[in-house]
Amino acid sequence: MPLRASVNGEDVISVNLSDEEWKALRNEFKRGTTTIILPCCNQPGFLRTSSKGLNHFVHSRDSLHCNWEPESPQHLRAKVAIINACSSSGWLAIPEYSEADWRADVMAIKDSTRIAFEVQWSKQTAEETEFRQERYAKSGVKSCWLFRKPPKNLDHGNEPIARKNLPMFRIYESDNGEIMASVGSNVFTLGHLIDSIFNGRIKFCESYKTAPQQEIEFVFYEKDCWKCKQSQHGFYLNNYLSTLCNSTIYIASGNWGGEGIYNNPQILKTVLEILKSEEGIHLKVGQIKPRYSKTMHLAYNSQGCHYCGALFGDNFLVTERMHAQYNSNNLTITKTVNLNAIEEEGEHWCYSENKMFCS
Ligand SMILES: [Zn+2]
Ligand SMILES: [Zn+2]
Ligand SMILES: [Zn+2]
Repeated sequence: MPLRASVNGEDVISVNLSDEEWKALRNEFKRGTTTIILPCCNQPGFLRTSSKGLNHFVHSRDSLHCNWEPESPQHLRAKVAIINACSSSGWLAIPEYSEADWRADVMAIKDSTRIAFEVQWSKQTAEETEFRQERYAKSGVKSCWLFRKPPKNLDHGNEPIARKNLPMFRIYESDNGEIMASVGSNVFTLGHLIDSIFNGRIKFCESYKTAPQQEIEFVFYEKDCWKCKQSQHGFYLNNYLSTLCNSTIYIASGNWGGEGIYNNPQILKTVLEILKSEEGIHLKVGQIKPRYSKTMHLAYNSQGCHYCGALFGDNFLVTERMHAQYNSNNLTITKTVNLNAIEEEGEHWCYSENKMFCS
């Protein structure tokens, strides 16, 4: 359903008119003083208001062949959200804009930059998407794809994969009928997504970076020393850390000598604070200190026995952790910890309100 038509030779976008202006136009049209020509096929059309109050144009019943594909109400609402976001960001928005051999759902124009926004409420294959993308590129137009269901081979679960030269995002309809968008773990209205693209809150990044402040779970569990068999406590950390863009990444880690979170002095300090605090004073955790490992042929900060001081090596801790995850009497303590940034490879569209991107 077109949102744009030529009214007495002048381009009119239905959703840019107030209800009064629309009503006035309808009266003029009824009086026969106005001609409405649709841009898709240059055939006459007329005005209609949808059951949800959306003003748009439709083909006359006696229209000859037009390649206009029927659009779902959601598709139409998505186009309106894009048009409104363009306008509020100072971009010119032209719906159903055609040129050469293509037609864009909404063309956004500012100075010499043109971005075609394509809403795919219905399915579209990867081949078709790439073909259409190339066609836009040939005309010097950037494009941005909004998929309800990403094409097979261009998806990762429910989300489109991140490709620098083929921006694709997922959209869906909320329970109250609003068109929403998601970028990684961030969810907002489609309008906010478009606004974020224009205002630099979304950037393509090749790697993830952890946020400086992390909520870290310290899990203390009961165990016996492998050497002296005395009962005491071990602990492990939740290795999922949040990124600057609110995603999570898994940081593999071994003992205290390893890379990443276990090597961080802030983590060590936090453990010691827990052990001195009211909630942790009863825990029997061996001192964390450098111990010599015969396997590694070096000394490193490690967990060890509270009683006999024996080193708890990586393999021992990994096995214990696997068992401990099924214990019901673990004590989990969550603390906010400042952490030096850890980077991990992974192409993604990075969303950040304050423009602190992963890379
Ligand atoms: Zn048409
Ligand atoms: Zn021991
Ligand atoms: Zn990111």
